[in-house]
Amino acid sequence: MYQAFQKHLQEELQGIKDAGLYKNERVIITPQSSGIKVESDKGEVDVINFCANNYLGLADNQELIEAAKERMDQRGYGMASVRFICGTQDTHKQLEKAISDFFGTEDTILYAACFDANGGLFEPLLTDEDAIISDALNHASIIDGVRLCKAVRYRYRNGDMEDLEEQLKKAQAQRFRIIATDGVFSMDGNVCPLDKIYALAQKYDALVMVDESHSAGVVGKTGHGVTEQFDLRGKIEVITGTLGKAFGGSVGGFTTGKKEIIDMLRQRSRPYLFSNSIPPMIAAAGLKTFELLTRDNTLQDRLHENTEYFRDKMLAAGFDIKPTQSAICAVMLYDARLSQEFAAALQDEGIYVTGFYYPVVPKGQARIRVQLSAAHTREQLDKGIAAFIKVGREMGVIK
Ligand SMILES: *Cc1c(COP(=O)(O)O)cnc(C)c1O
Repeated sequence: MYQAFQKHLQEELQGIKDAGLYKNERVIITPQSSGIKVESDKGEVDVINFCANNYLGLADNQELIEAAKERMDQRGYGMASVRFICGTQDTHKQLEKAISDFFGTEDTILYAACFDANGGLFEPLLTDEDAIISDALNHASIIDGVRLCKAVRYRYRNGDMEDLEEQLKKAQAQRFRIIATDGVFSMDGNVCPLDKIYALAQKYDALVMVDESHSAGVVGKTGHGVTEQFDLRGKIEVITGTLGKAFGGSVGGFTTGKKEIIDMLRQRSRPYLFSNSIPPMIAAAGLKTFELLTRDNTLQDRLHENTEYFRDKMLAAGFDIKPTQSAICAVMLYDARLSQEFAAALQDEGIYVTGFYYPVVPKGQARIRVQLSAAHTREQLDKGIAAFIKVGREMGVIK
């Protein structure tokens, strides 16, 4: 039986390789950080990491590690249950409360990942009488969540408020409407125009859902996300997010917002009802993360300084950078092959970045996505910029 299927898969995989789209995983043999050691065909090499979602540099933070260790000693390794059977400890409840406090929301529900939070969000809340109006560049997990729900789907062009208004007019045919958007779009680094989205939602009687995965901890003066940036704290009905990026870089996701929405998700959201609780040690480290981020603004300030410093120097050097209000800096190269050669040349210079091209970004829009972190030292940033300039000149990207 397997032979025919095997041949089929081998051909498909070869097709992916021939198209130059086969993903190889580079192996890191140190903790995740701004400086890491990777295995390569030249042996183990030290590189400066510019492609982690480790925005606040917490992935190897000693306080988080200690908090996790301590809770593991006290409460063991895992829960071996979903939340509603016997998978809820006090730490889970405390973390949910800390997330609500952070976002100024009424209640929070934890998931194993934000992919699950988004996957389990729409189906329990909306029916075929309702509408979801979704930004065209929304994350795959929102798209999947929308697919699992019977609500009528509308799509608007990325951040295009005229188009959103058009779709909202059409969606007046349905009972309830929800606008769904990423807070920060991960390929360009642009922030969603949440003030305008919110105003349209008021005008056309719609709820708003924002996925803060790339914006929480990053955007806003104190890193409280797009609701801080647009002064909409407590106003957005549903926010989803991850503990896997700025908030420590481990695992876990959440949905936070209006009390009844969260209550309904606890009753009916399938990834919550049918998937394991996050381990107590992860919840404890999550708690420590929110304690750290509200203690003072050191990490957020450093991230903002680093992002501005890097972007300003790169623009001054003549690089074409997508306008960004986040810690994502898309260095535009347009050509797919160039983006791969550029990234490989940077790796030879000790700079770890990834080149993105179609279908991850539109055709002819290839780029290197740089992600800044509070963990980057000025020296690391300068080395990164110098390497970009060297390779950029060699490849004729800048003068
Ligand atoms: C990374 C990301 C997710 C997935 O988060 P996980 O917790 O890793 O599953 C969901 N939405 C957006 C916008 C993301 O960037």
